[in-house]
Amino acid sequence: MSGSDSLDELRAALDTVALPGGGSLGASGRIAGLSSAGGRVSLSIQITPDEAQPFAPVRDRAEAALRALPGVTSVFAVLTSERAATPKLTQGTPAKPDPLAGIGHVIAVASGKGGVGKSTTTVNLALALRAQGLSVGILDADIYGPSLPTLLGLHGKPGMARGRKLKPMQAHGIAAMSMGLLIEPEAAMVWRGPMVMSAITQMMADVEWGALDVLLVDMPPGTGDAQLALAQGTRLAGAVIVSTPQDLSLIDARRGITMFRKVDVPILGLIENMSHFICPDCGSSHAIFGEGGARAEAARLGVPFLGGVPLTMDLRAASDAGKPPVARAPDGPLGRIYQQIARSVLDGLATSRGDAARATMTGDPS
Ligand code: ADP
Repeated sequence: MSGSDSLDELRAALDTVALPGGGSLGASGRIAGLSSAGGRVSLSIQITPDEAQPFAPVRDRAEAALRALPGVTSVFAVLTSERAATPKLTQGTPAKPDPLAGIGHVIAVASGKGGVGKSTTTVNLALALRAQGLSVGILDADIYGPSLPTLLGLHGKPGMARGRKLKPMQAHGIAAMSMGLLIEPEAAMVWRGPMVMSAITQMMADVEWGALDVLLVDMPPGTGDAQLALAQGTRLAGAVIVSTPQDLSLIDARRGITMFRKVDVPILGLIENMSHFICPDCGSSHAIFGEGGARAEAARLGVPFLGGVPLTMDLRAASDAGKPPVARAPDGPLGRIYQQIARSVLDGLATSRGDAARATMTGDPS
């Protein structure tokens, strides 16, 4: 399926879906962001907050009608309520059952802007936590640039578990689910903030994670409404901020820290990525972006400095080939750096909770 013909076919399929009060979904003016790429169809159905329940079966029927079309391999439809998605700056108990209930600690990995190595850090930090005996998952919520499938070398489609639930994929002993497996990044580009939020919230609810010690959430970069709502709507035990050493990147990191503080999420610390360049020929170290920027900034902001990861050819090449260095050599030079960072993250969790969070985790040697 391709081009406008395919969109016409999709719309025709939506015309066959009846609404609770009469009329068809296709003609209701409620469809937004309808797109199809490579057989993957995504769309948002606009509702008011009180229509969520009656429209759940409508969404199911819409997905079934679209999936029945030739060439369609997967359908991801979300119910979006603009009013419900507006972030509120109060912390309260979520009214709905928590889809992440079986997870010990949900940790956001965030950056003020894209391209600083947030996803690379998430994957290697997850592997370092696993090397310490924890069961770990990664939720790639970076809807605009989902890179988890590449970084973990994931192929194919996630399988289905009970009900409408998706099974997380497995790679290097890590449970993984990515927005990139459900929706095309080009489609997400044209989605407005509330639609993006609904998509992420639904993906969270739709995955059967089972029991995990830690779930790392690779956040969309930036500090807009979608990020704020995600930070607030998820039961976060803490946030890790990734930055490069330059002043400009640190300004964005500061915004990220401010955002999490607004919603009372503890900052577990700042990781400096690409802190210095290791020459692949002679092994010498060069502080291309200046030295000590993130450590000084962390001290200024009163958050822990978790460590610096060098800029290396090996890390770049291995990441883009889906072979993360910490999976290959957990005790190699990079592995040791990430393991040290992982220990600092766990210490931060224990301190921020004021309880023995580490001791409650399975497999902890202490
Ligand atoms: P983000 O998630 O912040 O957009 P990515 O993790 O996707 O960033 O990284 C962007 C690019 O930078 C990728 O090609 C990745 O391999 C590379 N990269 C990230 N960190 C490092 C590093 N420490 N050394 C070398 N390359 C890196």
